[in-house]
Amino acid sequence: DEFKLHFEISDDYTGYALSNFCIPRHYEGDLENVLIPWGLIQDRTERLARDIFHEIKDEPLTALCVLKGGYRFYTDLLDKLTTLNRFHASVSVPLHVDFIRLKSYENDDSTGKIRVIGGDNLNNLRNRNVLVVEDIIDTGRTMERLLAILKEHEPKSVKVASLLVKRRPDSTGYRPDYCGFEVPDRFVVGYALDYNEYFRDLNHICVINDSGKEKYKI
Ligand code: 5GP
Repeated sequence: DEFKLHFEISDDYTGYALSNFCIPRHYEGDLENVLIPWGLIQDRTERLARDIFHEIKDEPLTALCVLKGGYRFYTDLLDKLTTLNRFHASVSVPLHVDFIRLKSYENDDSTGKIRVIGGDNLNNLRNRNVLVVEDIIDTGRTMERLLAILKEHEPKSVKVASLLVKRRPDSTGYRPDYCGFEVPDRFVVGYALDYNEYFRDLNHICVINDSGKEKYKI
């Protein structure tokens, strides 16, 4: 019920032709289409920032970036929140920044087991209002595990903002509090989302093609 904003990109949506946009030459042959142009990400993030600002107003917030995939969404979301803080004379959200890095257990991805491999001491989250900022919720297992880990450190509250939520038949049913776009079950890259560490340096969110998957396979 807290998941109130839907921006759905339907399964039959074919996106925009690459030729309409500036794509780094080193990725030209590796992508099928542009699913979400950078400018639209900015516009949608601005609205999410406004919703967060008005729901959390006047309480300090610790924004927790899930590395690495979440870093561009995180910086853009925080830029927009700090802009709101500057322009509102009567309402503000004091912000703290924090980072966490997760790794799926090797060869065990599908069980959704994760390890925290970096970031500050999670004990800093005690009694704080935490906003987890993530790039994508796929099955939902990673986020459910992360929320369980965070809970052990007794934050005052935890909310989740995910730029993307994938429509998947085998989803756990987990829904974030704030969602940028609901997307089809395709593998997407760009805007810090990677395929084996490639494509983080692409501005738009794009669907990778078969030759791209082959080229950067490990
Ligand atoms: P889940 O545990 O929800 O199934 O998976 C979440 C994680 O899988 C994300 O944090 C992300 O690292 C990765 N992931 C899932 N789908 C995609 C995708 O389409 N593109 C990229 N780049 N990563 C994905």
